[in-house]
Amino acid sequence: MVTALYPGSFDPVTVGHVDIATRAARLFDKVVVAIYETPSKNLLFNTDERERLMKESCSHLPNVEVVRFSGLVVRFAKDIGAEAIVRGLRSGSDFEYEFDMAFMNRRLEPDVDLVCFMTSQDYMFVSASLLKEVAKLGGNINEMVPPNVAKAVYSKFGLPVLEG
Ligand code: ADP
Repeated sequence: MVTALYPGSFDPVTVGHVDIATRAARLFDKVVVAIYETPSKNLLFNTDERERLMKESCSHLPNVEVVRFSGLVVRFAKDIGAEAIVRGLRSGSDFEYEFDMAFMNRRLEPDVDLVCFMTSQDYMFVSASLLKEVAKLGGNINEMVPPNVAKAVYSKFGLPVLEG
């Protein structure tokens, strides 16, 4: 039984994140999607909201569990018995970040390995931070997030959900 941990801020969950969780769920027996409670980012959604949106978005994946966590990712991975950490790569800058992080994490916890999934072509430009800006300015984000998430994002900005 191999468990993988997919950690992130998920503020909010996008179709790119769901794609990575779906593909990881095919490869591993169990995937624990973990919402980082205190990322060093300005958040639009609090932890409860991010957790609820992720749970709704992954409810069709029976071997995916959604939890929240704080503290060191590798320590949390060890605590839940995960052998791998899953991350998604969109670009060279994602790669550089993950590369540095992987070496730091290996130093902290040599038993936990990193598995990176290359983004699917359709989701290459989907970014949680950018789509919030787009939605705030009245742009259409419907193809970038699950429908429940689009509703939640527009409602944060006091805007109606856009058609199509
Ligand atoms: P972070 O964990 O760095 O705060 P996110 O919560 O936005 O970032 O993303 C969690 C993980 O999902 C990261 O590994 C990120 O690179 C990856 N990811 C984000 N968007 C996509 C996408 N469109 N396609 C593939 N992977 C993605």
